Order: sequence, then structure tokens, then C-alpha cells
Amino acid sequence: MYIDTHCHLDWDSYQEDFIQVMERAKLAKVERVITIGVDEQSNIKTRALTKYDSIYRCVGYHPDIVLKDGFNLDEINRLMIALKDEIAQPKTIGIGECGLDYYCFEGQDLSDDRKGELKELQMELFERQILAAVQNGLPLSLHVRDTGESAYEDVAEKLSEYFSEESDYSARSFEILLPDLTADSEGSAKQVAHEKSVPGVLHCVSGPKWYVQHCLDMGFMVSFAGNVSYKNAQDLVEIADMVPLDRIVIETDGPFLSPVPYRGKRNEPAYVVAVAETLAGIKKVSLSEIEEVTTLNAKGLFGI
Ligand SMILES: [Zn+2]
Repeated sequence: MYIDTHCHLDWDSYQEDFIQVMERAKLAKVERVITIGVDEQSNIKTRALTKYDSIYRCVGYHPDIVLKDGFNLDEINRLMIALKDEIAQPKTIGIGECGLDYYCFEGQDLSDDRKGELKELQMELFERQILAAVQNGLPLSLHVRDTGESAYEDVAEKLSEYFSEESDYSARSFEILLPDLTADSEGSAKQVAHEKSVPGVLHCVSGPKWYVQHCLDMGFMVSFAGNVSYKNAQDLVEIADMVPLDRIVIETDGPFLSPVPYRGKRNEPAYVVAVAETLAGIKKVSLSEIEEVTTLNAKGLFGI
């Protein structure tokens, strides 16, 4: 079986044929799909989807939401209270997608000062979600995007504070932090704390190799999406080459980023097999080996 570790099943484009989408996934042996929240609305929407056996969810806030009108620190405080509720919902197995995205400022009419403010808001929103993840023993689904390296540098530095060998907040301390949180849950739908050793995943991996290596060193997994199959994906092919098999998971990021040969169409969980095929080619192993190892990795990452 395969696990699509990152898809946006709440998106409008799945509304009409949702049942068929899930049936096609099953036929393609994609037996688990993790649907990912990006804002308050989508987090709420994905609650209903977990009634399907195969669907699990991550909840969180995408860095692009700082561009919403009137977004400020008060809003972050409010969102973090909402996140607490979301984490307590059944089948919630991770936090994200969250991170930094300086690419979203491109083409916007923003002064340097305003950009600086927005970057600070992104970092605040990101760090609060790191804390939520660490305190709840949940893995992070990381989104980082930039035309240069600056967002990757900022993320790497922040993650080091929590997950590097030297950090007090090391992934190894998760187990110590867990009992506190289960205590205030009144035994409700609180997630069962699985033994945590993986702090998270670089969703739809991108960025310089030093960044990927740095995250590997801290224990993160690396997720490949359909763009690894594109003709101009030399950078991603090189990243796939350097990431060991026992750290790789796969995703569609549907409805976006359809892999070859579905490029241009709406993406859906069944197509994650095409990502696995591409990786089998790059890693020079059989498709069934990719199937087996990425499923094992995804289970270890999300505790499912
Ligand atoms: Zn996504």
C-alpha cells in the first residue's frame, strides 16, 4: 500500500467527485491519505473528512495567511486557541502546513518595512506552531518557499533551537513533555502519544542542499511531490539522490502539482504512485521497494 502524506482534500475542486477520488485512490493501493489544513476554515472543513477510514489530518496555518487584511499578533493568539481545539479532534496526527514563505511577497506592492513586519508575523506564527507540535508530540509538516535562500536560512536557524543535538527542546525530550498535555485533555479525543523520534517532514521538498542536509541531521523526513517528475527538476533529482531511502515519504500536494503523466490535470491521491515510480528510477530500486519503505516511513513519522 501507499500513503499520500500531503493532500488538500477539502479543496473545492474535489467536491463534485470526492467519492470517486477516494475510490480511485483505493484501486491504486493508496490506502491512507493525510489531508492538510492551511487556515482556520480548512482546518474546520477537514474535521468531517476523517469519517472515512483512510483519511487522517494535519492542522495548522500556512505562512501566506499573514497577507490577509488586518492580520496581526492578536489574530495569531486567537488562531492558536482555535488550534488547540483542532488538535483535540480525532485522527489529528500532525501540525501544518506551516513554515516561512517569502515567495508570496513577490509581485506585491510592499515597502521593505512592511515586508519586515510580515516576515516577523510569519516567524511568530511558525514558532507558535513548532511549540504546539513539540508540546503535543506531533510531527510538523513544513512549507518553505523563497526565490533565494533567506527563508531556508531562517527556518533552519529556528528549527535548530528546538531540534538540534544542542537544543533543550530536542526531539528526544518529547516523551517528557507528553504527560502534561494528556492530563488536561479530560480523556477526550486527545491524540495518543506515539513514541516520537521524528520531528517532522519537509513537505514538497525544495531549497538548497545544505538546508535539506541540516534538516536530515535533526531527524526530519523529506517528502517528494509530483514536481520531482518534471523535466526541469534537476535540483530535486539531486536532493532525491542525497536523501537516504529510510527518510523518504511521498505526497501529491493535490489538487496542485500533478506528476507526469497527469501534468495539467487536477492532482489526486491515486497519482502518488507516479511520484513513487519517479523515485524508483532515481534511486535505482524497484517500485515495490519504494512502496514498502515510504509507507513504513510515513507510519513512523505520523504514528499511524
Ligand atoms: Zn500543501
